[in-house]
Amino acid sequence: RWVISMNDRMYELGNKASVIRELFEYGKKRKKEIGEDNVFDFSIGNPSNPCPNVVTSSLLELITTKNPIVLHGYTSSAGDYEVRKKIAEYLNNKYNCNEIAEKIYLTAGAAAALTISLNAILNSGDEVIVFAPFFPEYAVFVEKAGGILKAVNGLDESFQIDFDRLEVAITKKTKAILINFPNNPTGKIITEDELKKLSTILSTKEKEYQHNIYLISDEPYRELVYDDIFIPFITNYYENSIICYSFSKSLSLPGERIGYLLVSNKAKHGELLFKAICGAGRALGFVCAPSIFQYLIPFCLGQTSDLMIYKTNRDILYKNLTEYGYEIVYPNGAFYLFMKALESSAVSFCEKAKKYELLLVPSDSFGYDGYVRISYCVETEMIERSLSAFKKLFDEYKLLRGE
Ligand code: PLP
Repeated sequence: RWVISMNDRMYELGNKASVIRELFEYGKKRKKEIGEDNVFDFSIGNPSNPCPNVVTSSLLELITTKNPIVLHGYTSSAGDYEVRKKIAEYLNNKYNCNEIAEKIYLTAGAAAALTISLNAILNSGDEVIVFAPFFPEYAVFVEKAGGILKAVNGLDESFQIDFDRLEVAITKKTKAILINFPNNPTGKIITEDELKKLSTILSTKEKEYQHNIYLISDEPYRELVYDDIFIPFITNYYENSIICYSFSKSLSLPGERIGYLLVSNKAKHGELLFKAICGAGRALGFVCAPSIFQYLIPFCLGQTSDLMIYKTNRDILYKNLTEYGYEIVYPNGAFYLFMKALESSAVSFCEKAKKYELLLVPSDSFGYDGYVRISYCVETEMIERSLSAFKKLFDEYKLLRGE
């Protein structure tokens, strides 16, 4: 019998689309059947507004004026040095930190930054702690890096960190804590107080175990904040930190695959870690991020697409859905609402929602029960049209409960 030469686990991952992708495909099919306007697709986190003008004008400038051999050529593996220097200067100005080009590695988005970081840090069997709910790809990235993902229900009812639970979860095998803010799926942002406490706990555990415990901060939504609140910059709070950043959401460029990872200049043995970062990039084939988009970065630092559209969407949804009676975690950022399902099974609630053509993602995908994620990076007008469907769904449950 012929045996197909392939890795079974990779086959499994490729063969089984994520719940979010499946729902997105279902939405496309349904739109063909009943018309675009009749389906309320809140499944996917694809920015719905165009990139800012500075992206288009700078790309034109680069294409017409920069030497094409350089523009389309290989850069150094970690990315163009001058671009990395500009990023460091920008961060130092904005956050009053002291980062350097030598510890910045340009990547194809936050996804590559995360896999490079994890592969650089982990040895077989090492543990990475994440707080549930968490971005599902973390499980895949940690597994492939040889580590063990330890999902901790380390958040309280308002989705802030529960430090008692965290402390119990950290063991000798813990090599990293992976956090994400503004968060997908809750929209929450870590507070300065939380970060200070987290930093104290990790430093104490580092001393106890005599090894670095990295704080990896996944920040593709860093700029997507709608209220006037302070967003801490993690390298100012914890030495052994790594930031995984992306321009996918802030500039609405998810398909261009550009971002970076930054090892804090204060990290212990940071030079050695950065060598491991370069080694992981090499082993994974993540060298020399797309060059045109590397050169675009200096033009766009500090710029964003029109994020106020998301604020409008958040406000409309939050106000109306809570008025109907839904329970929602108030989100300060990203473009997601995390809403309590109206029955214990989020999957079955999402199936009922489909009857009203509402496509919501069950929280089970994020390692958490009983909630749904509503991705509101969609047309405002679609949100307005969807409100009556949300209301009907709520009323159906009221009837079921005999109210
Ligand atoms: N991390 C989180 C929390 C995300 O939501 C996403 C994308 O949706 C990513 C990482 C990956 O982003 P990128 O497009 O930069 O690879």
